Amino acid sequence: GLADRLQGTLQKIRGKGKVSESDVKEMMREVRLALLEADVNFKVVKDFIKKVSERAVGQEVMKSLTPGQQVIKVVQEELTNLMGGEQSQIAVAKRPPTVIMMVGLQGAGKTTTTGKLANLLRKKYNRNPLLVAADIYRPAAIKQLETLGKQLSMPVFSLGDQVSPVKIAEEAIKKAKEDHLDYVIIDTAGRLHIDEKLMDELKEIKALANPDEIFLVVDAMTGQDAVNVAQSFNEQLGITGVVLTKLDGDTRGGAALSIRAVTEKPIKFAGMGEKLDALEPFHPERMASRILGMGDVLSLIEKAQATVDEEKAKELEKKMRDMSFTLDDFLEQLGQVRKMGPINELIKMIPGANRIKGMDNLQVDEKQITHVEAIIQSMTKAEKVQPEIINAGRKKRIAKGSGTSVQEVNRLLKQFEEMKKMMKQMTNFQQKGKKRGFKF
Ligand code: GDP
Ligand code: MG
Repeated sequence: GLADRLQGTLQKIRGKGKVSESDVKEMMREVRLALLEADVNFKVVKDFIKKVSERAVGQEVMKSLTPGQQVIKVVQEELTNLMGGEQSQIAVAKRPPTVIMMVGLQGAGKTTTTGKLANLLRKKYNRNPLLVAADIYRPAAIKQLETLGKQLSMPVFSLGDQVSPVKIAEEAIKKAKEDHLDYVIIDTAGRLHIDEKLMDELKEIKALANPDEIFLVVDAMTGQDAVNVAQSFNEQLGITGVVLTKLDGDTRGGAALSIRAVTEKPIKFAGMGEKLDALEPFHPERMASRILGMGDVLSLIEKAQATVDEEKAKELEKKMRDMSFTLDDFLEQLGQVRKMGPINELIKMIPGANRIKGMDNLQVDEKQITHVEAIIQSMTKAEKVQPEIINAGRKKRIAKGSGTSVQEVNRLLKQFEEMKKMMKQMTNFQQKGKKRGFKF
């Protein structure tokens, strides 16, 4: 993948103070090869490299980033541009119902996505969709949609498997009008491969149903096949957008990049699991990071910058230096970190975290942090400034007041003690370092 290719080059420039033109050239060679390997159109690649090179060599200097990070940031931004902005809006017909046609190969996730989309339309937009079972070929396809309808408590329209899909679509739209349902989502049949018969049927449905959206559902795990499928469907049928499914799996998501470049149609949604709420707007920025394999490290940096109050940070630093850092300050610092978002989300952004097995399932106990906060809040002012005075009796009172245990209070006090020790070492080290001209 692109990330692996870049690793080596990055390693080389990591320690440098400046990115030279030849560094950029070398990195761009890797990027170029990776993109071409991913079947991205030659011209697209050429333009892309040109853009990135110009920006990377130019003077877009950000104090907070190292030169290597800077180049990555530019690559990431341009990858994001290549995939377009976020476009998760869904068409609304002037006269209801709005008709959405779901198309794609067998197993791509059409039926599941039909349910997810209906769920989203109701939850987010307060709409009332009708699900239409127009896959009469796959055994149990109708049943599958009916089951989803039941789970969602939404109507499913079906005429069995002896009526043509075109007729089903026609009757469904009539029915939606009668029942004042504002969306019609047609779940069509797929094949293992694209063939003429399938396309002809879809074209017929399209001609009659006049859909406002034709969403192509593709499986991200199929990589370059997904790109070819997207190209064919777009050329033969015309699509309005793409839903990329199974992005919860361990695909790098390179398909996303080429799909947009090849079809010029936006990827609108990402399927992130089998459950009915596992449909998200497609975030080009996150996908760019994923393709780079570095996690959302940049959003992490940006988030940190946006959230942590400069003034407060300086104040804390001063307190650390003269060792007047109290449990109250600690509480405040916790709050700052929490403002950045749920800890679990933050962990996902750590570079390389996506490559560590089991990381997805890692659950950081937010409760524990809540406990720590409660414990500190249950202390008196004197205790917070001078934790040494917290004897057994006080511990009991604090535990009771915070709804925790004496053990937890002990643990926190110990951690705080260690943290203070560490700070002392760090500030000593920093002061020595500064004298020698190191930067921190
Ligand atoms: P269809 O043949 O295109 O209608 O595909 P289905 O909707 O029947 O889905 C095929 C399989 O893929 C089912 O087992 C789904 O649960 C699964 N699936 C669909 N979307 C996703 C997704 O986003 N993530 C995961 N992990 N599985 C998905
Ligand atoms: Mg299906």
